[in-house]
Amino acid sequence: MNPRCRFCGAQLQEVFADLGMSPIANRYLTPEQQNTMEPFYPLRAYVCGSCFLVQLEEFETPDEIFSDYAYFSSYSSSWLEHSRRYVEAMIERFGLDGQSTVVELASNDGYLLQYFRERDVPVLGIEPAANVAEVARERGVPTVAEFFGEPLARRLVKESAADLLLGNNVLAHVPDLNDFVAGMKVLLKPGGVITMEFPHLMRLIDENQFDTIYHEHFSYFSFLTARRVFAAHGLKLFDVEELPTHGGSLRIYGAHDDDAGKPETEAARELAERERQAGYEDIATYRAYASGVQEAKRSILTFLIDIKRQGGSIAGYGAPAKGNTMLNFCGVGTDFLDYTVDLNPNKQGHFLPGSHIPIYAPDHLRETRPDVVLILPWNLREEIMEQHAYIRDWDGRFAARSPEMRLLD
Ligand SMILES: [Zn+2]
Repeated sequence: MNPRCRFCGAQLQEVFADLGMSPIANRYLTPEQQNTMEPFYPLRAYVCGSCFLVQLEEFETPDEIFSDYAYFSSYSSSWLEHSRRYVEAMIERFGLDGQSTVVELASNDGYLLQYFRERDVPVLGIEPAANVAEVARERGVPTVAEFFGEPLARRLVKESAADLLLGNNVLAHVPDLNDFVAGMKVLLKPGGVITMEFPHLMRLIDENQFDTIYHEHFSYFSFLTARRVFAAHGLKLFDVEELPTHGGSLRIYGAHDDDAGKPETEAARELAERERQAGYEDIATYRAYASGVQEAKRSILTFLIDIKRQGGSIAGYGAPAKGNTMLNFCGVGTDFLDYTVDLNPNKQGHFLPGSHIPIYAPDHLRETRPDVVLILPWNLREEIMEQHAYIRDWDGRFAARSPEMRLLD
């Protein structure tokens, strides 16, 4: 029995990418858990033949996946800077002030809303992971620790109807997409603006970013498909920006579909047309993707095998979800990577799911002097190479997917 499309309900027949069996990518293991059973689920992305939404099936409830989420946004300096600039731009463009309300969905530890607070714009965060929401409250960002959808929006709308309703890297993580977007329609003030950022499917396909597919990431959007989803809930996407973040993201701007003050911009028209020309409403475009994923696996393994055969040692840098997809899909464990390092103290002392590669603090690189440091969050490679340039002291070299796996200089 095939699953059904989480947007339009059509039966899903077409496999977009099959990455084999994989554990939940953000489920880092404690030393004790290393000797216990670990659930693996198929990591298989489908594309809907009716609406072209690329998507995964759900195997666990969102509670199980997200309740103690280890990701704290504040640990990436480039992401903080991205957020700060976003806040400045929104205050300017939409004239937000002390009378406005800004609501963020999946507000994490309040890293973004803190910049609105500094400018005295009232904020409300919504963050289902209770431990993360608590950190946000401690820094003075009021936060509701619940899953967002239409029922919560109806409860909040009286007190907290949003002039700006934003969600960065949440739309892809929402299991009940229709309930989520319906909730945004409810919570948005007349004349209000929605902005959301999510990885752009066009970049995933063009640069073979198969490792951005993982179980917590349910949906993969083109602009055309996102527009269709919002339109079904009485919202229009009137503007869009293409951003370099997360390997290439879209920032969409939404409004009530009857909001005459927000006409479609040239950027929105142009991107929709570019996607149409590139075949994003043709199933053949999606069918062609699967073979490139298999070839990427072979070339990654060839790269790692060559280093090991020459006697080189390899350490990882970072412990992101995309690293776990790549390592598990390719079957790479401590036979290739001795360990990985991560700045996030919540991950240090743990092991990567599936591959059981240990995670240390970055200092471990200086102590062990690996020949090659494989950067797993390839989207942050420039920043990481700059911060850890000292590996050149022992002739260490960086490697990352870019988009092929290769040594970097
Ligand atoms: Zn569909």
